[in-house]
Order: sequence, then C-alpha cells, then structure tokens
Amino acid sequence: METKQFQAESKRLLEMMINSIYSQREVFLRELISNSSDAIDKIYYKALTDDSLTFDKDSYYIKVVPDERNRTLTIKDTGIGMTKEELESNLGVIAKSGSLAFKKENEIKDGHDIIGQFGVGFYAAFMVADIVTVISKAQGSDQAYKWESRGADGYTITPCEKDTVGTDIILKIKENTEDESFDEFLEEYRLKSTIKKYSDFIRYPIKMDVKTR
Ligand code: ADP
Ligand code: MG
Repeated sequence: METKQFQAESKRLLEMMINSIYSQREVFLRELISNSSDAIDKIYYKALTDDSLTFDKDSYYIKVVPDERNRTLTIKDTGIGMTKEELESNLGVIAKSGSLAFKKENEIKDGHDIIGQFGVGFYAAFMVADIVTVISKAQGSDQAYKWESRGADGYTITPCEKDTVGTDIILKIKENTEDESFDEFLEEYRLKSTIKKYSDFIRYPIKMDVKTR
C-alpha cells in the first residue's frame, strides 16, 4: 500500500497540532463538528435543487461516540460524504482555513495563539489522536473509502465498506504520558460540556449515547 505525502504546508500545520499545548486541545471537537455540519449543509442545498433527493430533517445529524475500552472517539455525520478524489484533495492539503497564512501575516512565533481562536480545521484532530481514520461514502457513490494517517508521515486511501452516505471520523486517542492525560476526551461529561461550549449554535442535532447508571 502506497503512503502519500502531505504538502509541505500541511505537514507544518500538522506538526503544530501535534505539539499543541494542553489548554487548546478541546477545540478539535469544534472543528470536526463544524465540518460535519458543513457536510450536512451541502447535502441539504443539493436536495433543494435536485428533485431526486429529499431532505428529511430527522435523517440528518451528527453523532459523537466515545469508546473508552478501545480508546477511540468517533464523530459520525450523515452529510454529503467524500469520494476518493475528495478525500485526497480535501484532507491531503490545507483547505481554506488559511491558518498558516494568518500566522505569517501576524508574525506569531508559535501556533499557540491561533489555535483557540481560529478555525484550524481537520488537522486539529491530531492534537488528541495519534491515528486518524476517515471512512466516507459520498452521496451518489456506491463505493466507500478509508483515509488513514498517523500524522506527518503521510496517509493512505483504500476502498472499504460503509452502508450509508456520510462520514465517520475515528480518532485513536493518544495514550497518557507521565505528565499529560488524554482520557478526558473519552469521557461523556467532558465531551458534553465541550460540545455545549463550542457547538451550541450548530443547526443539526448532535447526538451522544449516555450510560444509564
Ligand atoms: P475547512 O472546513 O475550512 O474547509 P477543514 O480542514 O476543516 O477546512 O476541512 C477540509 C475539507 O475537508 C472541507 O472543506 C471538506 O471539503 C472536507 N471535509 C472535512 N470533514 C468533512 C466531513 N465530515 N464530511 C465531508 N467533507 C469533509
Ligand atoms: Mg472546517
């Protein structure tokens, strides 16, 4: 399997994310949820102009699934999905977020100041995960694809199974180190409060199963 390389700018942003400071890590969830919301917007607007599509409001949502045992956090959406080509062009390069251009302009010495305030986009996932897997099936496509990356080394894209249109982003949450814990990103309560803090304005339902005690 061929590992493809990120573009140079993407690689720098990635490294910035990987070395981010503790207090800003939680914004990864804001970034992923906003991408999911954008993807649902896209299918919604498509349905407005395409008679073969209907937009049934109840079928569109974002779901956050923590799995403490496997140490994964999955963000699922029923949005428009991505084709193989879109996975390649959207996730292999820096998209319109333009955080690096912003950083240069403002001569910020390290990335710490911008992460919290600006959309840093998809790569924010690498603040909390050491493996990011994206499983996506595009609207109008029969085949799903899996994009996977362990960070700066590059990424792979392979065909895979997925029944429904949309995208699942699976984060393999980093192991704790001597002085840093990542466990909180698998905890229901912490996830709920982060969603409340950053994603309260999202127009689609954000679901999470909760344990009954
Ligand atoms: P931005 O959201 O500013 O474009 P991102 O880095 O957050 O930049 O995302 C890059 C691109 O990847 C998006 O523009 C979109 O095309 C694609 N993308 C990311 N997440 C999803 C998703 N959940 N569903 C569909 N497309 C996505
Ligand atoms: Mg985004």
